[in-house]
Amino acid sequence: GTITSPSSDTTQVAGLEAGIYIFKLTVTDDDGATASDSVTITVNGAGGPSPGNIKIEAENYIAMNGIQTETTSDAGGGLNVGWQDNGDWMDYAVNLASGGTFTVNFRVASFFTGAQCQVRNSGGTVLATVNVPNTGSFQNWTTISSAITLPPGAQTLRIYTSNANGGWNINWWEIVGASANPNQPPVADAGDDIVTT
Ligand code: MG
Repeated sequence: GTITSPSSDTTQVAGLEAGIYIFKLTVTDDDGATASDSVTITVNGAGGPSPGNIKIEAENYIAMNGIQTETTSDAGGGLNVGWQDNGDWMDYAVNLASGGTFTVNFRVASFFTGAQCQVRNSGGTVLATVNVPNTGSFQNWTTISSAITLPPGAQTLRIYTSNANGGWNINWWEIVGASANPNQPPVADAGDDIVTT
């Protein structure tokens, strides 16, 4: 790679190929004292890492209101969330490598017709309204989908029961084609001048 302005406090680095680079910055004051720090940058190959799915177990919320969990009979076992009444919710921490409009799958079951949930961001904006079908039983599972536009980076997403209508269950949900942000926590802070290609 080429450091465009190697003697400046701000620079761009060009011509990097896939690999791991360590850049070292050394500062020298007027008295000749020096100090150094380094940063490791991973440059992905063309197209970046292959996107997968971010799958979130419903029971892995970071906060909730009014719900309970139970052993699920769905494939894979584990727990599902149930006892969801009007206004109940779960919050999930998500950190996306890049934003976009994603297909989001929800693994749901309901004994009733007409249950509805919303996906909300931390500001309360409704990102999607999802109608939960009657699957014949609270343990008869199906996967439904909705398109949701999400920004990159760390965020909290809420699954909110906007119409329980007797109740509904959720086992997991997944953001299709999304990659988790590898920087957890972020290695760069606002004001850092690290530019990668
Ligand atoms: Mg689960």
